[in-house]
Amino acid sequence: MKAIAEARTPLTVFEQMESEVRSYCRSFPVVFTKASGHMLWDRSGKAYIDFFAGAGALNYGHNNPAIKKKLIEYLQQDGLTHSLDMATEAKEVLLQTFRETILKPRSLSYKVMFPGPTGTNSVEAALKLARKATGRETVMSFTNGFHGMTIGSLAVTGNRMKRGGAGMPLTHTIAIPYDQYMGSELDTTLYIERLLEDDGSGVSLPAAMILETVQGEGGINVASIEWLQKMEAICRKHGILLIIDDVQAGCGRTGSFFSFEEAGIVPDIVCLSKSIGGYGLPFALTLFKPELDIWLPGEHNGTFRGNNLAFVAATESLRYWKNDQLSRSVLAKGNIVRTRLEKLKKAYPFLQGKVRGKGLMQGLAVGAEGMAEKICAKAFERGLILETSGPKSEVMKVMPPLTITEEALTEGLDILEASIQACKEEEKEQ
Ligand SMILES: *Cc1c(COP(=O)(O)O)cnc(C)c1O
Repeated sequence: MKAIAEARTPLTVFEQMESEVRSYCRSFPVVFTKASGHMLWDRSGKAYIDFFAGAGALNYGHNNPAIKKKLIEYLQQDGLTHSLDMATEAKEVLLQTFRETILKPRSLSYKVMFPGPTGTNSVEAALKLARKATGRETVMSFTNGFHGMTIGSLAVTGNRMKRGGAGMPLTHTIAIPYDQYMGSELDTTLYIERLLEDDGSGVSLPAAMILETVQGEGGINVASIEWLQKMEAICRKHGILLIIDDVQAGCGRTGSFFSFEEAGIVPDIVCLSKSIGGYGLPFALTLFKPELDIWLPGEHNGTFRGNNLAFVAATESLRYWKNDQLSRSVLAKGNIVRTRLEKLKKAYPFLQGKVRGKGLMQGLAVGAEGMAEKICAKAFERGLILETSGPKSEVMKVMPPLTITEEALTEGLDILEASIQACKEEEKEQ
């Protein structure tokens, strides 16, 4: 009897053994067994459309067939898997492809650093380099920014609950208001400019500013092009390095490979991870202007900087950037999402909704407290994986793989609508 009961409780071993720190398995309480493209399947065979895409690590879909083929070939020929930062053929091809496909067409001359394989590793390397290059200690970060969970990255992250987890002071950073933080009337660049110019502001000149052009975890807040351009100008004027954390918004999420391309700015340092590994494999890069390359050999390192499987997958994924086909399809699908979210906002006033985002990184902010999470739970029952974002989990985040078909995208949006309708009916009953 006990065995039967356990078989029915799908998460038993996870609940028994895995730390309370686990989170996504609470929102999506099934055991997944298979994934392909924009679809996932659980153990009972139930299918789900993926509007989450590994928090942006699966831009090219689950088990992308072209990438999978390259990985299998590489494994079968006994290619190196682990190599620290030794030179391997897989890394050579990746660097060449990245230069030819991404950097050259954009007239960028970044040096490429391989930090540890996660987003926070890339951010830590960027912060360390900025402080080393300028000799300054402080880094300016933005309200609702998210940059990772290690101490340096957490110190530039906004979320109060996550910061609290540090258990120690998070120092040498100062949080300043992101675009629109004080509403649309107030241009926050004026405040920032004043802080930097005024010798009485109490704020020391920072080494760098770190920001996301679209805040992924902080609520899908979009910085306007003018705001980004002004921030770049402020940085130039005061000799402050501009770090763009493109870990989530990069790799095509907003339509272009780098999220800052449309603004025409050139950051001093760029952080990439999540989808740069192409196949959901751990991988990160830190890019910086050549004059900033003042590292001593081995001054920053990490055992897993040489994830050759990720190099192979990344190289193949860059094929998508040899022409503008993917980019255009992201923008077209982004318009479908935009139109539908605007429609939902109007059709369901009880949501007190606001549509936010860009490309295939969009969200519907819900005014009614706790409602976004309720709708996501209903969507999951109906076969859609949809996560929330924002300091109060108030934003329903639409972030499918970039390769999703228009049919599946529409089907997913239909499920979202049905889930909102179901919540509305429940509200009425109460
Ligand atoms: C996810 C994320 C990170 C942290 O990446 P990890 O791989 O989880 O360490 C950093 N910055 C941004 C913008 C992110 O979305």
